[in-house]
Amino acid sequence: MDCLFCAIAAKKITADIVYEDDKVVAFNDIDPKAPTHILVIPRKHIATINDMETDDKELLGHMAYTAKSIAAEKGFAEDGFRLAMNCNGHGGQTVFHIHLHMLGERQLSWPPG
Ligand code: AMP
Ligand code: ZN
Repeated sequence: MDCLFCAIAAKKITADIVYEDDKVVAFNDIDPKAPTHILVIPRKHIATINDMETDDKELLGHMAYTAKSIAAEKGFAEDGFRLAMNCNGHGGQTVFHIHLHMLGERQLSWPPG
């Protein structure tokens, strides 16, 4: 399968990985929108959040848990941060392997564009 994030998880394409385990990989976004902009992906290929299955519920929770753990470790958890997942065209998704954006270390506005 020709998927950029599967290739990053398999280390066929280099990324700046900040955390990995048997279920997820987290790496710095190549085009950061905040001083910290990390993507947390599952090793399992799931194209969009619409493709999430019942058995994936725990995996999505693990992605969120990974993000909050990284925020705590980096020391900005209490200041706050944003987690976001974009889905399909209206959501602005450009890479079709689900990923949790974590943006931190600056004041973010709401709503996003
Ligand atoms: P989205 O628009 O939600 O699909 O987000 C895709 C994200 O992947 C964007 O923030 C891109 O900057 C990021 N991205 C694309 N290619 C790479 C890459 N090779 N390494 C790290 N991040 C990437
Ligand atoms: Zn993939």
